[in-house]
Amino acid sequence: MDISRRKFLQIGAVASGSVVCAGVKPASARDLREPNPEWLGMLNDTTRCIGCKACQVACKKENKLPKESTLNEAANVGRDVYDAPRGLSDRTYTLIKMQQAKEGGKATFVKTQCMHCSEPACASACIVGALKKQDNGAVAYDSKLCMGCRYCMVACPFSVPQFEWQNAIPSIKKCTFCRETRLKEGKPTACSTACPAGAITFGKRTELIKIARQRIEEDPERYQDHVYGEKEVGGTGVLYLARPKMQFASLGLPAFEYRTVAGLTESIQHRIFQYFIPPVAVYSVLGGIMYYNQRRKKNGGEEGGSHE
Ligand code: SF4
Ligand code: SF4
Ligand code: SF4
Repeated sequence: MDISRRKFLQIGAVASGSVVCAGVKPASARDLREPNPEWLGMLNDTTRCIGCKACQVACKKENKLPKESTLNEAANVGRDVYDAPRGLSDRTYTLIKMQQAKEGGKATFVKTQCMHCSEPACASACIVGALKKQDNGAVAYDSKLCMGCRYCMVACPFSVPQFEWQNAIPSIKKCTFCRETRLKEGKPTACSTACPAGAITFGKRTELIKIARQRIEEDPERYQDHVYGEKEVGGTGVLYLARPKMQFASLGLPAFEYRTVAGLTESIQHRIFQYFIPPVAVYSVLGGIMYYNQRRKKNGGEEGGSHE
């Protein structure tokens, strides 16, 4: 979103004004909830990934998703490129992106998909409850409840939910955590099973954190002393490890604050229904969250957050 700081502040002022007019106290983020020890997750070890994309192919197969062009149409390059498609879409739920590390030009591959957040901002922004954190840790979407407002797309700090623009009755699409298929049968996710390099470990989130810490302890030269997702945005179901000199932000994993954005979106929603705040305030606040998320990504996650 191309918006100046001045413009953003103006919008914020309109939003605040609307809130004040409605006699509402400003929304405040609530405290974090403790993650459930039974939640499942995945540990993506970027130091092990060889960029073969077997996970990406397995995900397509599991979810019966059609192929996408591997031509770099955005850059008008009429040949196949590695980084294609350019991002997650309604037909691609997971994607391997190649990033060039500053350390000696070595390529690092990073798997992107829904993070299955402990405090999912998408779910808290959804007015009709179409997105919900499940008992097994997956953040599931129900198309029967969805009214197509796309608040979830605005709220998600990782820009994960995708809209089926080409369909007459569109749905939101994102990684399902193989919940309705493999998890129901007691099997691990398709992507983790397909990985030939052991770069994706499936299991209980609490166990994955222990495994990650153990890898760091046993090989400090190989790993940065940080498990991404242990605390960021209140914790995520998908965790990451990276090489010491690799900035998580340059892997598309910004240093979000440890406080969740879900608490904020949730309290906004509660206020809306409690006091019927005019829609301009709602759009302004959600626009503000989107601007904040994009600005953090642009700045490499330097603004306001820290890793420790
Ligand atoms: S990554 Fe985005 S879509 Fe996935 S659970 Fe978190 S907020 Fe929701
Ligand atoms: S968990 Fe399932 S849906 Fe999600 S990226 Fe892996 S294979 Fe795809
Ligand atoms: S299958 Fe494993 S090694 Fe291959 S791209 Fe996916 S995560 Fe990387």
